[in-house]
Amino acid sequence: MSHWQEQIKYAIKDLGSWNHFCEENNKSEQKIDPSLESVEKKYPLFIPQSYAHHMLSLSKQSPIHKQFILNASEIKSSTQGYIDPIGDQLHLKAPQIIHRYENRVLFLPTQICPINCRYCFRKNEIHHDQEIFKKANLDSSIDYLQNHPEIKEIIFSGGDPLILSNKKINYYLECFSSIKHIQYIRFHSRVPVVLPERLDDELKEIIEKWSSRFSFHLAIHTNHWLEWSKPGLTQLRKIQFWPWQLLSQSVLLKGVNNDVHSLQELFTHLYNFKVRPYYLHHPDLVAGGEFYYMSLDEGRKIYSQLRDLIPTWCLPHYVIDPPTGVGKSIIGQVLTEKGSHKHQILSRKGNIYHHVEIIS
Ligand code: SF4
Repeated sequence: MSHWQEQIKYAIKDLGSWNHFCEENNKSEQKIDPSLESVEKKYPLFIPQSYAHHMLSLSKQSPIHKQFILNASEIKSSTQGYIDPIGDQLHLKAPQIIHRYENRVLFLPTQICPINCRYCFRKNEIHHDQEIFKKANLDSSIDYLQNHPEIKEIIFSGGDPLILSNKKINYYLECFSSIKHIQYIRFHSRVPVVLPERLDDELKEIIEKWSSRFSFHLAIHTNHWLEWSKPGLTQLRKIQFWPWQLLSQSVLLKGVNNDVHSLQELFTHLYNFKVRPYYLHHPDLVAGGEFYYMSLDEGRKIYSQLRDLIPTWCLPHYVIDPPTGVGKSIIGQVLTEKGSHKHQILSRKGNIYHHVEIIS
């Protein structure tokens, strides 16, 4: 078992282990209130020890703790959030394949993540066996891809696809290489931030080997510059030179990064590490993550301030992915009725969808 796999095996998986870890490292002030046990029964805690050390170097109130430590609000009874806040289920076309946009599909080969993000839009699917993660015969997924020549790109998502073993990643790439019209492979991953040691030489060799067949992108999920530990930055410097284009995707989260200076710092540093800021997602209204939500108006104000602070080539697209499942829309194309939370979203196909935000 490699070092990174041990990090997963021996990760902190419950409140008691976190509190023990804090005591061992003389950080008792970072212990979690035992009353939050009821939260982890529904939405488990999961933090690799190497990343937990980074967390202990920050304060309990840091934007990093707010993303990964249990929060009582996760189980407050609420009827606002959605189990499937972006309409994934509507586009499940083959086992583990979500086909929403004509030229690309999401491939969901795993439910496992290197950390459990409390705001995750799939938090009710990852932790509770939902249809989209049902184990399946890869052959029927490949058949679907073979029969849809318009699909040019496979986006490995999940869970976190880089949590798969190198052998498995190589196997999937080999299978997909037989489908002539697939040109691009993209990984969506939080691994570079929270489990950088996983980006090992063997993975590099696999990406190099297949780079003559596919054009690769790695979209790094990162929401705040404080998330980056020293080992994370060391790896980020190295993977710039792997044969893939680095992109970022971030979620705007109340209490974490809903201030323009945090975002300015994040995107300019990423750019300096040759990571192109790609998407800034308006938060999804997920059941159990409503407390991270903010109105579109608030998000728009932050984004327009950001436009004045950083160069436009460093500015990600600010997008919303509504529960109707129509897919991402650029927020600049969303019309809002004055003084209300009623919006008209222009889809990429030119249709107009009505979206009413439920703000408590
Ligand atoms: S790593 Fe991604 S999929 Fe996993 S919990 Fe975090 S946001 Fe969700």
